[in-house]
Amino acid sequence: MEAEKHILSKSTFLRGLQCAKSLYLYKNSIQLRDRPSAEQLAIFSRGTNVGVLAQKLFPGGKDATPKRRSDNIAAVEKTKELIASGVEVIYEAAFQHNKVLAILDILVKKDNQWYAYEVKSSTKISHTYLLDASLQYWVITNSGLPLADISLIIINNKYVRNGELDFNKLFAIKSVMREAIQQQEMVEEKIFQSKLVIENIEQPKVPIGEQCFSPYHCDFMGYCWKGVPKNSVFEITGIPKAEQFALYNAGFKTIDEIPVKNNFNGNVNIHINAVKTDEEKVDKDAISKFLNKVNYPLFFMDFETFMPAVPIYNNTKPYQHIPFQYSLHYKQSKDAELQHFSFLGEQGSDPRKSFIQNLLKHTETEGTILVYDALMERNILNGLKNDFPEYAAEIDFRLKRIVDLMVPFQEKNYYHPAMKNSFSIKNLLHALVPDLSYSDLTISSGSIAMTAFEHLQTEMDMFKILEVRDQLLEYCKLDTLSMVKIFEKLEMVVGS
Ligand code: SF4
Repeated sequence: MEAEKHILSKSTFLRGLQCAKSLYLYKNSIQLRDRPSAEQLAIFSRGTNVGVLAQKLFPGGKDATPKRRSDNIAAVEKTKELIASGVEVIYEAAFQHNKVLAILDILVKKDNQWYAYEVKSSTKISHTYLLDASLQYWVITNSGLPLADISLIIINNKYVRNGELDFNKLFAIKSVMREAIQQQEMVEEKIFQSKLVIENIEQPKVPIGEQCFSPYHCDFMGYCWKGVPKNSVFEITGIPKAEQFALYNAGFKTIDEIPVKNNFNGNVNIHINAVKTDEEKVDKDAISKFLNKVNYPLFFMDFETFMPAVPIYNNTKPYQHIPFQYSLHYKQSKDAELQHFSFLGEQGSDPRKSFIQNLLKHTETEGTILVYDALMERNILNGLKNDFPEYAAEIDFRLKRIVDLMVPFQEKNYYHPAMKNSFSIKNLLHALVPDLSYSDLTISSGSIAMTAFEHLQTEMDMFKILEVRDQLLEYCKLDTLSMVKIFEKLEMVVGS
């Protein structure tokens, strides 16, 4: 181990594996990086306590994190000192070899041998995790500490909480020693190449390609993709990325340039033709048939759920969808005034029972329940039937009344070029009701709502709690109001 600033870490090593240009830009032109979206920030802030919880599997350890967290040299020195002083469990152990830094979640000494553990808040082992562990193995062993084993600690998605958390059941430990050893030659070669990339005075010439999306959405796309024109072939959803790049690299940069004769399926061609002609496609008969299935009074219903990695409530599993909020717009008849009902669970307690009790009360009269993309709502209601069998018959009555408002759009009975072959409610709203938008909301997507409610579970500031609750109510209300407007648009186009 040497007291010299590192030039590569786990994350920059993985960045270099994805794309040499991304690594170069990160090291030399960080200011060109895209600002993370609110949605990405919400995703980053999830599950941050899983690493700390996994420490409970090996209690009584010492943390090697230095006073100034960014001082990695101090972290490496502190790890060396802890090892030398006979400490047998070390959290955040830092190692460096040949200017490559690795910070390991948990290092354990058993029977005079060292075992390395890296914690992931996922339920599966991905290829990227194996590469990550392989780099850790390379740095730790080359820095002078032989390892008897290296393992990933992941979440066991079969675990059902019953009382206090059982950490031995919540986590699963999988050895990845064999894979790590197999990758050592590759790791060494890639480290060598990555250092050349970083030290080069010229930016690598890497054209945009599938690597921009895999394994991660690259954060230099704003820079590299700025020459891609509007209505480019990358806006055609429903075809593989490889086909989009084949078109682009063959010179068909925009949808307008795609030949009439092509091998795409009908759905893709509906979008291509809509963009070329800039015209809507409306099948009035099919829309009328859909509307005939809908009976007043109408309920426009939307649920929000959150998925804690570590189960918070009894009788729940890791990453289980827990419904915590719904919004309902209600119309007694076509010309009746629009009414609104909602529910938002209290932070700190299991919201499921109050959720279903309130929902049943708000939907007890007859009438169609319109849901946009009904799969999630149906799954949640079926899950609640299992959790609260006393409400099963009433829930079934609601399930039978559900009609999916997405169907006429998914079946292309109504197609607008701005939908871009995507049927998300936001795309639809943008295309059909441009006056209504999520852009002014602080919580503007389901994943942000999910994280906001999860954070409320530990929030102590009353003002902050009230502020976030208002934002959640506003967001979910807009979801069902959007459905009302979209439904009215369907009624309008058929003149009903
Ligand atoms: S956007 Fe694509 S080409 Fe540009 S750095 Fe990222 S992965 Fe590489």
